[in-house]
Amino acid sequence: MTHACQQHLCTCFIIPTKILLHFQDQKSALLSERLRGNRDVSAQAFFGGITTGAKRRTIYDAGHTSTLPGSLVRGEDGQPSADATVNAAFDGSGITYDFYQQVLQRNSIDGKGLRLDSTVHFGDLFNNAFWNGSQMVYGDGDGTTFVGFVQALDVVAHELTHGVTQNSVPGGLVYKDQSGALNESISDVFGSVVKQWHKQQDVSQADWLIGDGIMGAESGKALRSMQDPGNRDLTWVGDDQPKTMDGYEEGGDVHTNSGIPNYAFYLAAMNLGGNSWDKAAKIWYQALPLLHPNASFKEAAKATVHAVNLLGYKKVDRDAVTAAWRAVKVLK
Ligand SMILES: [Zn+2]
Ligand SMILES: [Zn+2]
Repeated sequence: MTHACQQHLCTCFIIPTKILLHFQDQKSALLSERLRGNRDVSAQAFFGGITTGAKRRTIYDAGHTSTLPGSLVRGEDGQPSADATVNAAFDGSGITYDFYQQVLQRNSIDGKGLRLDSTVHFGDLFNNAFWNGSQMVYGDGDGTTFVGFVQALDVVAHELTHGVTQNSVPGGLVYKDQSGALNESISDVFGSVVKQWHKQQDVSQADWLIGDGIMGAESGKALRSMQDPGNRDLTWVGDDQPKTMDGYEEGGDVHTNSGIPNYAFYLAAMNLGGNSWDKAAKIWYQALPLLHPNASFKEAAKATVHAVNLLGYKKVDRDAVTAAWRAVKVLK
């Protein structure tokens, strides 16, 4: 398609390079960096994506190589695999599909039933998982630093949501600076909300962690906390996420500054109360089409406030959202 060049796709990894380097995994860091450069390939694959109009999951096995997509091991109507990793990818993408369909009335990541493709066993002890613009890809982890990715529903929903974002924000969100941190945050927001929805946990029962269960016992408990970004007791020893604009890192990693909009969502959800998917997630989702490729935190804040009006919610709800963005010092 001729307008493909105007669409900002990302090769978005769940584990930022600096975490891999912290744990001295140069090999996974190098492979991640190399894949990040493959955007033309992923763009082509994306626009050739198959739209089916119904829940349609396809799981591939890369056989510990870095060739995509790998061999087909399970389709929508196929039998469960003997491989639990294959079934986890199938189940996780199904739960995420159901969330978008049942809660947000969205048919798959493009709203038109795009087939959900996942590849497991990617790379050799690869410590990462990513969305490449057209599909989800999961390494196994090395078994020590990371023990796997696809078993974590919030990781699966995080990756799929990158696809939702590129289809919902006109032109997509450029994967650097504030728009990149927003892109990451939106994936964390829906990653956490999908997990909460699946567990039927309200905002005070939820753990608000991203990637709990993917790190080895020696390396940490989770990647990020939306409830208390940067709290290393809840996450891992190198967590440097800021909670408010006071800690904003100019030119910082998108996975670092995402702590600020993550915390804003957490506060908004707590202010609104109940289940995060009842109002907070609907507000954030409604705000996506109001953004643009280089959207700033402030523009995102205003979009969510406007979304409250579009949804016909009350002033008390708008105040709840505004107060959250004020608390993180994005709005005055
Ligand atoms: Zn494997
Ligand atoms: Zn991401």
